[in-house]
Formats: sequence, structure tokens, C-alpha cells
Amino acid sequence: MAMFKDDNHLWKSTCDVFEDEHLPGTAAPWTGIYACQECNHEIASNEGDPLPPAHHHRHPAPEAIRWKLIVYADQRAK
Ligand SMILES: [Zn+2]
Repeated sequence: MAMFKDDNHLWKSTCDVFEDEHLPGTAAPWTGIYACQECNHEIASNEGDPLPPAHHHRHPAPEAIRWKLIVYADQRAK
């Protein structure tokens, strides 16, 4: 499970982008942390980079892996 210490860096969102599931190997739509919906394995990915492939980690059914954005990294200049 992703962790954080300082509340000033994370805030709870109800945005729909956190509901979408993404296939292994497809382009990450956002920069941030993604979790596998089968086992909660977490990875970090940059927008446009391919999400890890189906053989990234062991599952009884590798095709079951679906990545879901759990933390969005806001890259806009402040
Ligand atoms: Zn998994």
C-alpha cells in the first residue's frame, strides 16, 4: 500500500480517472502510482510510458492483471 507522511502533498479526489482500469502494456494515461487490481502490487509510471506487461509479476492468470491509478502526480509548475 502506498504511504505518505506529509498531508500537504496528498488530498482525496473523487475524479473518475481513479476508476479506470488499464491493460498491461498500454500507455499510462497519467503520471503516478498504479496498483494491480488482482494483488495490489504497486508501480510508478510516467504518462505515455507503457504500463508493465502481463508477465511483470506472477498471477495464476497473467491476463487478469489490470492497472488502476491510485496516486496522481501533479506535474504542473507552481
Ligand atoms: Zn498483480
